[in-house]
This record gives sequence, structure tokens and C-alpha cells, in this order.
Amino acid sequence: MSAKILVVEDEPIIALDLQQQLTKLGYTVVAIADCAEQALAAAARYQPHLALMDIRIRGDKDGIETAALLNERHSIPIVFLTAHADAATIQQVKAVQPYGYIVKPFEIHNLSTAIEIALTKHEAEKVTQAALEKEKELNRLKSNFIEVVSHEFRNPLSAILLALDLLERHDRQLTIEKKQVYLQRARVAVSRMMQLLEEVLVSSQIDAGKLTYNPEPLLVEAFCRQLVADFQLAIDTKAAPKHTITFTQISNAVDHPTLYNLDEKLLHHILTNLLSNAIKYSPHGGSVTFKLIHEAESITFQIRDCGIGIPKGDCDQLFNRFYRASNAKTIPGTGLGLSIAKQCVDAHYGNITVQSAIGIGTTFTVTLPLSVDGTPHPEGGNGCLG
Ligand code: ATP
Ligand code: MG
Repeated sequence: MSAKILVVEDEPIIALDLQQQLTKLGYTVVAIADCAEQALAAAARYQPHLALMDIRIRGDKDGIETAALLNERHSIPIVFLTAHADAATIQQVKAVQPYGYIVKPFEIHNLSTAIEIALTKHEAEKVTQAALEKEKELNRLKSNFIEVVSHEFRNPLSAILLALDLLERHDRQLTIEKKQVYLQRARVAVSRMMQLLEEVLVSSQIDAGKLTYNPEPLLVEAFCRQLVADFQLAIDTKAAPKHTITFTQISNAVDHPTLYNLDEKLLHHILTNLLSNAIKYSPHGGSVTFKLIHEAESITFQIRDCGIGIPKGDCDQLFNRFYRASNAKTIPGTGLGLSIAKQCVDAHYGNITVQSAIGIGTTFTVTLPLSVDGTPHPEGGNGCLG
């Protein structure tokens, strides 16, 4: 594709001559402007790759001021093309950091060299700028991590300290049942901290590109049943509120496979996050249903609870890191779980959706596609996380 050039020149004959020469060199002149307003309008409309700018132009803004505005609003590299080479003008020009400065009259090959250097330099700067932005975003995420995680660590640590303190100071007065209660509180706090650490670790592995998608044949029904059994066991050892998880399997396919090519580790992240949310956001206990649905071209995991629900306005942002719904602030959490689940679903070329009603409950549905013959997805997911 030939580079699009905006010519800012108020002498019509010079402008036309320049247009012909640029066309001969293989560039596309998208517009000729003779004042700042025209130049800015043309830049907005045609998004040129570069502007060739005269210094004395029509109107109350000269070429230097126009260049500053083009830079600011559209980040277009500027090459000045001017008859003025006095020290004062050059000093002013330097302030807008042009990509080139050609004094008229000029040789055509000098013009094309200046344009090519300016375009290459601008591309390189864009790459550097993008890397800088990414670095900034990572730094912002890191500070967020430290802030959220240290805040979330404080509560379980205080609970452990308190339990230890009570056990130590009132050892003789406490009944065995009371001691069990304090020990249980400490245990819950430790498991919350372990879950937090796991989430931070997985998130940083995703950022570092270290968590990869490795699908292998998996007995998916057995995997889900085991997961439910593990969750139920953990629930049963806890004090009230009680939850029950019911697993059901439905087949909408004529003959569905038992082995599915899935990444077990990533599927584990997806389902444990959804199940633990279903339990956590049902603070009065209740039933959680987990459906495995076999379709001809996909497999669906559906987790439904009868918990607090999610306000409509929050649903779109739940999968963003650290995002927590407005009705969840009194329940501990960092807002990392669903962002991890979403990235693991994306790696499988899958889809995750949520349906919810306040005070009635929430359903998360994850659909992972299969290839047409029921064997693994042909491309094997997007193969990357993050
Ligand atoms: P953690 O990182 O410990 O999982 P979290 O549970 O707050 O913290 P996510 O799992 O990412 O973070 O969930 C994001 C938000 O979505 C939650 O804070 C909560 O507001 C809302 N949410 C998720 N699942 C449910 C659910 N089943 N019922 C109600 N709200 C939910
Ligand atoms: Mg969660």
C-alpha cells in the first residue's frame, strides 16, 4: 500500500507540482490544504501517514503551529518543506520535533529520502510507544495486585492470629467443641490464603506467557464428578451454611464421546472458580447445580446457584481483572477468579456467559467447541493465554 500524504501548501502551483512529483514517486496525495483548518480537517478525514508542511501558509496559524496541532491530535509525522532556513525559524521548528526539514528548491530524490526516513522513524516510534504503554499497564497491574492482595491477606491473617490467641490464653476454660470452632476458623482462613496465592500465581503465569494450552484426551464426566466430590467433601467439613452440589449429565448428541481433548489444568481453573463463586455468593447455603451438556459440536458446563445474584450493570465487566459487583463488597474476594476462568475459556476457543437475577441466583455457562466429528478441536484452541 502506498503511503498517504497530506500536502499543506498555500501556493496552488507549487502544491500541484508537488502532488505530481509525489505521485510519480508512488505516494498517494490524499489532500492539499492551504491553511491550518483545512489541514486538520483533512488529517481527521484521511488519516494520512505523513504531512509535508510549508511554514508560511494562509490564515492566522502558520505551518509550525499547524504541525503542533497535527501532532497533538493525530500523531502524524511532519516533514517541513520551506524556503525559510533562518536561525529563528529553525529554532521554532525544533520545538515541534519534526521528522524532516527540506529547504526549497529541493532535489526530488532528497524529498523521497526524507519521506522514507520519516515514515520508518515514525513506525519505529510507534512500536516503542506500544511497548512503553504495555510496560505502564503491567506496572499498573502490579501495583493493583499488591494493593488488593495485601488487603485480602489481612483478614484471614487476623482470623488466624485471633484463633491462636484465644486457644493459647483460654486453653483450660475452653470446651473441646469451642476449640474445634477456633481451629476451624483458622483452617478456613488458611485455605482462603492458599486460594488467593494460587490465583495470584496463575495470573502472573498468564502475564508471563507461562501458562500454556496443552489439550489431551480427558474423561470429562469422571473429571467433573471428582471435582464435585472434592468440593462436597470440603463443604461437609465446614460449619453452616450448608451447600449441596448436584451433578447431572445431559446428552443432546446422538453419540457423544467419553474422551474430550481438553486442557485439564485450565478446565480445573475454570470450574473451580465457578463452583467456588456459586458457593461463596450463596451466603445462606443452598443448592448448586452443575450440568454437563454434550452437544454435537460442543460441550457445555453450566453452574447454577440460588445466591445473591449480580446487578445488571455489573455483568459486562465481571471478567475484567479485579472487578467486583456492587453487591459483593461484604464478601471477601479479589476479583481475579473470573478473569482467569475467561482466559482459560478463550484458550479453548470457548465462550463464557452469565445470566443472573438479584436475590434469585446466577448461572454461568461455558461452551467449548469440538471439531465436527466429535474429536478434538482441529486448530486446538488459540494456544495462548493473556
Ligand atoms: P476471587 O478472586 O477470590 O475469586 P471474586 O470472587 O470477587 O474474588 P471473581 O471470581 O472474579 O472474583 O468474580 C468477580 C465478581 O463477580 C465477584 O466479586 C462477584 O461480585 C461476582 N460474582 C461472580 N460469581 C458470582 C455468583 N455466582 N453470584 C453472584 N455474584 C458473582
Ligand atoms: Mg471468585
